[in-house]
Amino acid sequence: MGLNLILPLQVWMERWVLERSCRWPRARIEAHQSRSVEQLRRFVLQRSPFYRRFHRGLEQRPLADLPILTKATVMENFDDLVTDRGVRLAEVEAFLDRDGGRGLFQDRYVVLSTSGTTGRRGLFLFSGSEWINVLASISRPLYWAGVYRRPWGLPRVALIASTVPWHYSARISLTLSSRLLPQLRLDAVQPVAEMVTRLNEWQPEMLAAYPSVVLQLAEEQIAGRLHIRPGSVMTSAEVLPEETRRRVREAWGVRMFDTYGTTEYAPVAVECIQGRKHLLEDGAVIEILDDKGRAVPPGTAGDRILLSVFRRRVQPLIRYEISDMVRPLDEPCECGRHFQVIDAIEGRTEDVLLFPARLEGHAPVPVHPNVFHDVLDVFPTAGWQVVQDESGLSVYLCGPRNIREFEALRLALYRALEAQNVQVPPIKIQPVDKLERGATAKAPLVVSRLGRAAG
Ligand SMILES: [Zn+2]
Repeated sequence: MGLNLILPLQVWMERWVLERSCRWPRARIEAHQSRSVEQLRRFVLQRSPFYRRFHRGLEQRPLADLPILTKATVMENFDDLVTDRGVRLAEVEAFLDRDGGRGLFQDRYVVLSTSGTTGRRGLFLFSGSEWINVLASISRPLYWAGVYRRPWGLPRVALIASTVPWHYSARISLTLSSRLLPQLRLDAVQPVAEMVTRLNEWQPEMLAAYPSVVLQLAEEQIAGRLHIRPGSVMTSAEVLPEETRRRVREAWGVRMFDTYGTTEYAPVAVECIQGRKHLLEDGAVIEILDDKGRAVPPGTAGDRILLSVFRRRVQPLIRYEISDMVRPLDEPCECGRHFQVIDAIEGRTEDVLLFPARLEGHAPVPVHPNVFHDVLDVFPTAGWQVVQDESGLSVYLCGPRNIREFEALRLALYRALEAQNVQVPPIKIQPVDKLERGATAKAPLVVSRLGRAAG
């Protein structure tokens, strides 16, 4: 996509349109939702053979009566689900392997991939106008947090996330990077000492990173090695512990703003200046259900979230399931927005693993879960899990049984860890039929069992 002078303007206009809904009363939000869902359902019945089958006999029923759509179902029915008959899964996968996801598939579509948290990897396509909508949506948290107070200049940003091109954050950053938005991009898997050096040089006004990385950097600042003065700190993609917020206040005297998003609809929820998270209900119907599939009342934690996304037309998602736990709250918010308030987001829970440093006398080195994601997400498997214990690292793999591939994987992991300047422990690769599930019914992908009771 490269540097496109019109793109920032299009994104700015799109965001301006989106942000008007922040003043809507509740009744208007709901009217907008039912109108948008109706249009979406009509559209998929005309254009998607999959949805014609999936919703057969239910065409006149309310949204809540339609079947739940899982990522596995989306991927199994990919060719029939998309509304462009020229798009084939095999070709999209070949494109990703060939191009690494940098360019546009068929010169038209941005392709993103999600990791196999619940099994297999998901591929998601966006048309040009859908992508502008994504870019506009992703910058809404900055407006909500008051970062864009100065209309004449954007802040110097340091973005620390994944730099794998088909990863959501990397793709956003590739598209937006320009002289209009000065940014330093670092990979979350870089050793912390390197990040500290680069950040000290760059002196960002805004820091955007995963909570686990922000916590490491706050500790570096408190320890006196990092010297930056960001005016705002934004996080997303992981659970944000209260302790991290406290350390950030201590390190920089600023508060953090957290966003909850998924590749399929981002952001799902945004934190306002009052410290509450609001569901972005102007772009999707967001249902919070219990384990029996019933909508949960305010104050009760749900078991999963269903998304029906209005603007996704190439690859429509209706009642698409994400297995994160959130609790809807029956609270009005002083910020004036009438979007549903939620709390307690429990999603991907992964551990930052600590390894002894390769050099004698150095402190243990924290290794971000993305180090493992970058290697394992591209490995052909139906699911994986990395467990650290006293004996070293165990990698559990669902699916493949090929010994030669195991060796290649072991080597790739060894190199990735070596690049972190740690003493690489023994790595065991173990094929399994099923992964151990955590409390959220998801298999935590990177787990430390060091210093914990077994089980
Ligand atoms: Zn609010």
